[in-house]
Amino acid sequence: MSKRAAESQKREPAARVRLFLEAPFEAGALVLLPPRALHHLGTVLRLAAGASLLVFNGRDGEWRARIERLSRKGGTVRLERQVRPQLEGADLRLLFAPVKRSRLDLVAEKATELGVAALGPVLTARTNAERVNLERLRHHVVGAAEQCGRLTVPGVLEPVRLEDLVSRWDAERRLLFCDEAGGAPIGEALRREAAGIDAARPPRWAVLIGPEGGFASEERAALRRLPQCLPVSLGPRLLRAETAAIAALSLWQALLGDWHR
Ligand code: SAH
Repeated sequence: MSKRAAESQKREPAARVRLFLEAPFEAGALVLLPPRALHHLGTVLRLAAGASLLVFNGRDGEWRARIERLSRKGGTVRLERQVRPQLEGADLRLLFAPVKRSRLDLVAEKATELGVAALGPVLTARTNAERVNLERLRHHVVGAAEQCGRLTVPGVLEPVRLEDLVSRWDAERRLLFCDEAGGAPIGEALRREAAGIDAARPPRWAVLIGPEGGFASEERAALRRLPQCLPVSLGPRLLRAETAAIAALSLWQALLGDWHR
């Protein structure tokens, strides 16, 4: 066998196919494939009965499963054994003012890869209130969770007006307010937070990113009055909302989250 063939055998492509299923998991159980999966497994990946894949449901860890039946009309997989136990991720949310659809898709995908537990739209004074398609967001977070190896799928929160978000703010959740008008340098601010952390009670967090038009000054003032608010700067350049989201979530993971340990 050539070296190349040996390498491609090692990669076991079918084993990297990961699928999110809603059903409860149990060894030996037969699970019906949702329509989305039929298309992906059959038409896109051209898999057939007997192929092996990994599945997760957000509660029971990751399992190896085998396709038992697969056609355009329907299909099933048989659960074999658990290969990874369920893990609790950090309680980190991304709250963002909706941006154009293609950029929103990107934000949903990247936030999922960066380990958010939930994401949700916030309507601000300068939001271009294009309707947010929550189903579409959900579709993107499921796809990204399958691809990146997570054991959970982030929640997609209902849109909320900024004033309601502020008036109902959870006293136990810290708010990383990315303020284009300035704040503490984000790296230093998060390093200070990390120094004061109580490992037994990991705090809940949310990252807030504003609209392309920026926050209005009253919004900025209301946010800053929240005792849980940590206003931060992402440096001297104005970032696009999606860049700001990716940068803030990455720094949070590096200093307080699962890139840290
Ligand atoms: N049009 C606005 C910029 C908005 S950028 C203006 O001219 O001021 C969209 C969002 O990304 C901002 O509301 C903020 O949450 C975040 N952001 C962009 N650049 C930032 C920076 N340098 N520091 C902190 N947050 C930033």
